[in-house]
Amino acid sequence: MRFEVTHVLDAIERHLTTEFALAQAVVDLGHVAWYDALDGGRPVSLLRAGLLVDAMSRHLGEDAVMVYAVASRDLLTDADLTSKERMVLGRWAGDGMIEVVPVMADRVPEVADITGLPVITMDGFPGLERRYPWLRGQPERVLQLVPAEGGARILGGHPAPASPDGHGAALLSRVWRCPRRDCPTFGDRRATTQAVPRMRAAVPMCPRHDEPLVNSGVRPPSVTMVLIVDGVVRDRFVVRAGRPIIVGRSPDEPDGLMIGAYLGGNAAQMISRNHVRLDLRDEGLFVGDLSTNGTVVRARSAPYSSPDEVHLSGGAPYLLKPWDAVELHNGVVLARADRMPNTSVGGYGSVMGDAPTIAMRPQV
Ligand SMILES: [Zn+2]
Repeated sequence: MRFEVTHVLDAIERHLTTEFALAQAVVDLGHVAWYDALDGGRPVSLLRAGLLVDAMSRHLGEDAVMVYAVASRDLLTDADLTSKERMVLGRWAGDGMIEVVPVMADRVPEVADITGLPVITMDGFPGLERRYPWLRGQPERVLQLVPAEGGARILGGHPAPASPDGHGAALLSRVWRCPRRDCPTFGDRRATTQAVPRMRAAVPMCPRHDEPLVNSGVRPPSVTMVLIVDGVVRDRFVVRAGRPIIVGRSPDEPDGLMIGAYLGGNAAQMISRNHVRLDLRDEGLFVGDLSTNGTVVRARSAPYSSPDEVHLSGGAPYLLKPWDAVELHNGVVLARADRMPNTSVGGYGSVMGDAPTIAMRPQV
């Protein structure tokens, strides 16, 4: 099979986010792209981000790894990028899939500090440990990307989902808007996602434009969910108060979560196009069954308690407790990202596909 750079870059793109609630780690994209020790290839290569995604997938045992990637302007203008890489990078920057900053400075540990997410690093953050003491001695917050047989791997602990402390939570509970309304990170188009402000002398700033952000009110609460198919996390998504989401094989609503691509055999036949509706209200997260064949809630009072089965049908909303999981069909489960049922690990894919690492070496 011919190795298609475009396919790999598209696959990498699905793992990039500036929504802190979806992200699982923060990384300097330039560091990764310039890290030629990973494959011994060109001075800069965007494909190394694919090695990172695959390494994270293996480390977490997940297929739906999401990375908050920050890029400095230096990367976007690096003359050694191919024209295709430059074009793709420009699109990621323009669509707000990555955050672009004029100067990197402490931006990566700052985002991690505010959100509680881990950082991915290659050579640490020299000189920043005093400002961010957790950079020392917290292996679940500092993940190291190292070269390994056939690509790269991550050294470090198993990180927890984003959990901002009091200060971070207060900052992220507001809607922040850039004065430049076309800003890819804090502009009008990003109305439903929350990137992380850059703090300067206690003032939240747009990391891209270095202008103070406007406080546009309270952000509706949200809960981050995962889709698990046969024990592997295949997708993660955010349910926001006042914005119910339909999950199914192929929901009618454009904002619905389409899961058909992850299903095979029986599950593909038994799961309805519009299967369940998730609705976050003041009382908590509700699930309503919209399907032909019904939905089962595996109700747990604690992580290791054996679940009671509650059969849902007919659309009436059911209030989920935090440890409850929703089963659309055998092995197809929705759960809170921070309250995942035990999953058997394995079987996740690779964004690099069949791309041999040799393909990243310079053509001679
Ligand atoms: Zn801006």
